[in-house]
Amino acid sequence: MQKVVVTGAGGFIGGHLVQQLVAAGQTEITAVDIKPPDEWFQRDARADNVSVDLQDLGACRRIVSGAGTVYNLAADMGGMGFIENNKALCMLSVLINTHLLMAARETGVHRYFYSSSACVYNAAKQAVPGVAGLAEADAYPAMPEDGYGWEKLFSERMCRHFSEDFGLETRVARYHNVYGPHGTYDGGREKAPAAICRKVIRAKLSGDHRIVVWGNGSQTRSFTYISDCLEGTRRLMESDVRDPINIGSSEMVTIDQLVDLVEGIAGVRLTREYDTDAPTGVAGRNSDNCRVKQLLDWEPSTPLLAGLEATYRWIYDQLRASV
Ligand code: NAD
Repeated sequence: MQKVVVTGAGGFIGGHLVQQLVAAGQTEITAVDIKPPDEWFQRDARADNVSVDLQDLGACRRIVSGAGTVYNLAADMGGMGFIENNKALCMLSVLINTHLLMAARETGVHRYFYSSSACVYNAAKQAVPGVAGLAEADAYPAMPEDGYGWEKLFSERMCRHFSEDFGLETRVARYHNVYGPHGTYDGGREKAPAAICRKVIRAKLSGDHRIVVWGNGSQTRSFTYISDCLEGTRRLMESDVRDPINIGSSEMVTIDQLVDLVEGIAGVRLTREYDTDAPTGVAGRNSDNCRVKQLLDWEPSTPLLAGLEATYRWIYDQLRASV
């Protein structure tokens, strides 16, 4: 069993992935993040936990040396509030993937995973709420999310060409809005499910029963629970699927329905104020799962309500512990 490298291991998905690999019996794991280990969302003492900036080629070479598998989940990213206001920072993540690919090729890595995003999809196909699911071909002609989405689309193609030209086995997942415990829920990088949970919990605990919702509440989205994200990633890595593939739930809701669900979990009803000047992203987005069903014989199945209950409970405990 050769060394497995997980980058972005101090973050949300990377932290869960290390746990999954440990549980599966993987003994040699190098977990890497730019954050110091005491700031990681999850840290497992059975992994070699390293703090390093992977935008640096030399650091990538040192980390990847001796590895059979690399999972690249490192990126400077966040929810719409972050990516709409930090396009240059998001695009600089191209250095991480480019340098990791170069190092992986040089050191003879067998399999390389890249975490892409539904933000690669053409914006014109997401212009109204309730649109049909996005199929993999809908990334072209290219009109992705400015900044973050362009970096993802470019990095997908870097993987493809490293595979075609140099024979490096690459696997690319297009994650759709992943949520769950041990993720960002405050501070500006959080995404809608965690942000709504936090706002509802604060309203409930403070007795101030008002909530600010970004946009007019009619935007549609699907949200993928972390266990489904991990299962899809595992299946993809074990497959021979070389083209990018959706890993996303197809249970579509409006943002208002998302708030309804969280209010139901909390047992409160709040007065909603809609901030239509806030960053909201595209009007409608959902995952078309025809290809993932056909090629991986699977699709995400965790009901949104069940995933939200677990996420709400975890954020509730964090907020209670911090007061
Ligand atoms: P996250 O922000 O929780 O984790 C990313 C981690 O990468 C962070 O801990 C960060 O410190 C680290 N990082 C950033 N720059 C680095 C650098 N230069 N060197 C080393 N580490 C660095 O994000 P996440 O939600 O866990 O996402 C993981 C991956 O999945 C990212 O590539 C992200 O773009 C992609 N993705 C996530 C979602 C989602 O909904 N969470 C959706 C689509 C795609």
